[in-house]
Amino acid sequence: MSLFARRKTVFVDADILIVGGGMAGCGATYESGYWGRDLKVVCVEKANIERSGAVAQGLYAINCYMGMQWNENQPEDHVRYARNDLMGLVREDLGFDIARHVDSTVHKFEEWGLPIMKDPETGRYLREGKWQIMIHGESYKPIVAEAARKAATEVYNRIMVTHLLMDTANPNRVAGAVGFNVRSGDFYVFRAKAVIVSAGGASHIFKPRAVGEGMGRTWYAPWSSASAYALPLLVGAKMTQMENRVVLTRFKDGYGPVGAYFLHLKTYTENAYGEEYESKWYDHTKELVGDYIDRHPVPTCLRNHAFLEEVKAGGGPIRMVTKEAFADPHLEQVGWENFLGMTIGQAVVWASQNIDPKHTNPELTTSEPYVMGSHATCSGAWASGPEDCAPADYQWGYNRMMTVEGLFGAGDTIGGTAHKFSSGSFTEGRIAGKAAVNYVNDMKGDRPQVSEAEYEDLKRLVFQPLETYRVGRNEIVAGTVSPSYILPIHGLQRLEKIMDEYVGGISSNYITNEPMLTRGLELLGMLKEDLGSLGAEDLHQLQRAWELHHRVLASESVTHHTMFRTETRWPGYYYRADHPKLDDADWHCFTLSRYDRDSGEWAMEKAPVHHIVD
Ligand SMILES: Cc1cc2nc3c(=O)[nH]c(=O)nc-3n(C[C@H](O)[C@H](O)[C@H](O)COP(=O)(O)OP(=O)(O)OC[C@H]3O[C@@H](n4cnc5c(N)ncnc54)[C@H](O)[C@@H]3O)c2cc1C
Repeated sequence: MSLFARRKTVFVDADILIVGGGMAGCGATYESGYWGRDLKVVCVEKANIERSGAVAQGLYAINCYMGMQWNENQPEDHVRYARNDLMGLVREDLGFDIARHVDSTVHKFEEWGLPIMKDPETGRYLREGKWQIMIHGESYKPIVAEAARKAATEVYNRIMVTHLLMDTANPNRVAGAVGFNVRSGDFYVFRAKAVIVSAGGASHIFKPRAVGEGMGRTWYAPWSSASAYALPLLVGAKMTQMENRVVLTRFKDGYGPVGAYFLHLKTYTENAYGEEYESKWYDHTKELVGDYIDRHPVPTCLRNHAFLEEVKAGGGPIRMVTKEAFADPHLEQVGWENFLGMTIGQAVVWASQNIDPKHTNPELTTSEPYVMGSHATCSGAWASGPEDCAPADYQWGYNRMMTVEGLFGAGDTIGGTAHKFSSGSFTEGRIAGKAAVNYVNDMKGDRPQVSEAEYEDLKRLVFQPLETYRVGRNEIVAGTVSPSYILPIHGLQRLEKIMDEYVGGISSNYITNEPMLTRGLELLGMLKEDLGSLGAEDLHQLQRAWELHHRVLASESVTHHTMFRTETRWPGYYYRADHPKLDDADWHCFTLSRYDRDSGEWAMEKAPVHHIVD
């Protein structure tokens, strides 16, 4: 009996299927359950929604809160802020839509039990910065997950979704998804009228600074494996701004966040000789990007740029001056709690390296690049905007529906909307959930049809790495290098090396150019061929194999976008050495890509940036 015939297939019918139960997925599940009380809402997650996604470990601040009840900020202010930080290019309709609803989300979090710190004098939420409020967030994710669990008809944990299914009658309409249980090995076929993808962003597509035994120590969650992009790409959904990878300045080796340090503790940076260095690079940066360097706050990428230039000029290491703030016992406590609540690893790294920030100013570093849509970056799917404020170019269907019918997205999945963070991602999930309910209700009895041949073919494909390993494993007597298969870790390291060396990773100082990108694409093509020979020893490795598939496709998208945009829009994130300056005349626009899985070809185009806020 073949391996495939032995595997059980479980069928699940749903009205709305949510793929990924992180912040956006929990928001989508909660809101779909609220508006679609008669609908079957199913959430599927590769880990366990209780502690999954980028917020798994907890957070110390909610980074997106307007404070409209106290007239602190208005949604338009947030649009201006995000636009400025992203060097002019954001989907203002989508950002405005999140900003106008995000406060209500945060109020719900508090109602559900999330402790939010209060300013003892005003009674308002305690501000860490203009947009950030401080929380005791060790249990942030379980609190949010509880609301989603109660709203869902069913939650399936430990199932990795590998592919979306399409309608037999309409090739541009989604009909469900398939995946496998990473513990039991059962194959799952989800048939759904609408699918919301909320599967996070992508780490480990560029070689990380920490390799070998430390390779899991990245700023961005190592389990964020690009499914959010690969799943829609495989069914022809358009992506936007995939070149806009993000590089973070963080504490060295532990990647502890710097936000609370800068904003609340009022710490600042200096070079190895105790000098302020950012102003040194002002003229140089102005030469590259013009007036963007004069904006307030200075865009994140440009601050990275000054850091990188200073290090190249021999002024490194750059340090955070903590000694002054830590002289105040209250601030010292806040500084430690900040890590203990969300990045315990940083405290452990400091302890292991004899760094007490009270006595030693700790080093900072710039991370390897990551691909995501919710931080100081906006890669992701091209989505239809809200009915009341999206320009006609941005509206072809329901709010947050991609260019594939019935396929919605939220959080890191959706492009063009930077700075939504945890609260904004949950809010966008709510927006997508409500829109998906409307879509399903409008469809009435019209249910998409799934082809048995399609999911049976996918079943064979999904489990093939187990078979490849089983057949080839006896060709070697020791070690891990086989003539018949490659292991997921080998493929991952090859991917990271290609992206690092050719597409602007750390080893090339984030620099690339057309010849490097061309070679990078050739090597990615060869890697893609070899993915057909992946071997998986067990179900855990099978998950790694499919994560690698998703990462490779997303990497290809990143490389094509980087090639297409012939300017350097975000110095400090990456540099096109052959086009070193920002070019607003030709490139004040979005880049869009569409993948054709039959031909393997990528189609690139530009889309206009409409400014709806002055
Ligand atoms: C290091 C770091 C620090 C941050 N700090 C803050 C902060 O201080 N304040 C703040 O407000 N925000 C912060 N953020 C941002 C916030 O965490 C994200 O904006 C938010 O988590 C994005 O939500 P999401 O649902 O898109 O992704 P996630 O929350 O990451 O959820 C994605 C989910 O999809 C699941 N998944 C992935 N692939 C599959 C698949 N193939 N099948 C099934 N399930 C899948 C994952 O397991 C995960 O549960 C931080 C982010 C990071 C990375």
